Amino acid sequence: MTSDPYGDVGALARLLLSGDRQALAKAITLVESTRADHQDSAALLLDLVATGRKHKQPALRVAISGPPGVGKSTLIEALGLFLISKGKQVAVLAIDPSSPVLGGSLLADKTRMNLLSKDPHAFIRPSPSSNFHGGVAVATSESVLLCEAAGFDPVLIETVGVGQSEVEAAFLVDIFVLLLPPGGGDELQGLKKGVLELADVIVVNKADGDLENLALATAASYRAAMALTTQAGMKTHKVSVLSLSALEKKGIQSLWDTIEIHHHSLVKNGQVGSKHDAQAEHWFWQSLEHQCIEQLKASPRIRKITAQLLHSVRNRELSGRAAALKVLSSYLPNEK
Ligand code: GDP
Repeated sequence: MTSDPYGDVGALARLLLSGDRQALAKAITLVESTRADHQDSAALLLDLVATGRKHKQPALRVAISGPPGVGKSTLIEALGLFLISKGKQVAVLAIDPSSPVLGGSLLADKTRMNLLSKDPHAFIRPSPSSNFHGGVAVATSESVLLCEAAGFDPVLIETVGVGQSEVEAAFLVDIFVLLLPPGGGDELQGLKKGVLELADVIVVNKADGDLENLALATAASYRAAMALTTQAGMKTHKVSVLSLSALEKKGIQSLWDTIEIHHHSLVKNGQVGSKHDAQAEHWFWQSLEHQCIEQLKASPRIRKITAQLLHSVRNRELSGRAAALKVLSSYLPNEK
């Protein structure tokens, strides 16, 4: 199609692999596209990029998660600038499940990561949708690979600590950092148990001014709680707990040292490879699930069948389950 801006996928892949930021932005837009006629181009691009990167070290991928207002953006700005000062190229993918409570996009405020977003060694990209699941989550996993292929290392992933998004985020990264506010021992109680299990590093932010002592005490109590869960065999790996001030840029170096120590031990034990294998498998199934639904919904034949079945479902003459099985059996070849 002449209107298709992704006609020359080979050229886009080459530009991206040479570190061209515009090509990276365009490539991410392509993998995020839900247009049926973009799907093959996106798949081809990902294959070309993977081939182009063969035998290269994967980038270090870090999730930074925590409740709204805890200081994730402030920390990522401070950490990003710190890493750039060490000669690194930093990508930030911000997953932004717009909260119906807060209304609108959490990232809409352009002042977030103000300095980092202007830095030529940083690439910041918010995730496009209000919900981090299905196709958006798959596209984000692909965006991580694209950032890495364009030479960004590390890739930081910001997620808001609400609901399912950080479980999915854990499938994107090597190291999961959970950011928490000072005080609020309840915070630990209230946190979904699953989120704590994901954390490799717990960071108590806002250790400055009047909050400094409270932050230190909070970190100490989390440390004690984590030691107990490790002793009880509830965690299979050690969790580091530290406090810092993102605002005053205090403790950033030691956060990065901690992340690197965790990463080195994963590399040493050969766990990074197996983690990436499991993640690749996870995203394959997610992608298959998503593509199946999209293609089923788009197929005129299936639409006709569903229209008839839906009539019976609405009248309660047929269960939703039975209708779904009928759709599938008319779609899949009979394998018996
Ligand atoms: P996010 O919603 O988690 O991304 O949080 P933000 O980074 O937007 O920060 C929320 C508020 O907390 C802002 O007013 C920040 O200035 C403030 N904040 C962030 N980090 C710190 C910190 O280390 N110390 C103090 N005192 N305030 C902070």
